[in-house]
Amino acid sequence: MALTGRFTEQAAKAIVDVAEGFCPLCRVQLVVHDGRACCPCGGCSYRLDGQRFEMTTCAQHPAFRCEHWLKVWSRSS
Ligand SMILES: [Zn+2]
Ligand SMILES: [Zn+2]
Ligand SMILES: [Zn+2]
Repeated sequence: MALTGRFTEQAAKAIVDVAEGFCPLCRVQLVVHDGRACCPCGGCSYRLDGQRFEMTTCAQHPAFRCEHWLKVWSRSS
């Protein structure tokens, strides 16, 4: 694995947030269905599979630009 320590730490925090039912980015409660947890704010969809954490998409909760994602994008540019 070529992940940096910082990234791994952030990912670990995100896993805890998702496991507790919150979007790591928006801090809103996730909608759980069909084995995934969707963020009703930004439309991000998360899957927890044991120790594996996946960010995916969901047809029922299409991704759209929420202010939280816009902040992340403006920070990284
Ligand atoms: Zn959001
Ligand atoms: Zn979100
Ligand atoms: Zn969904």
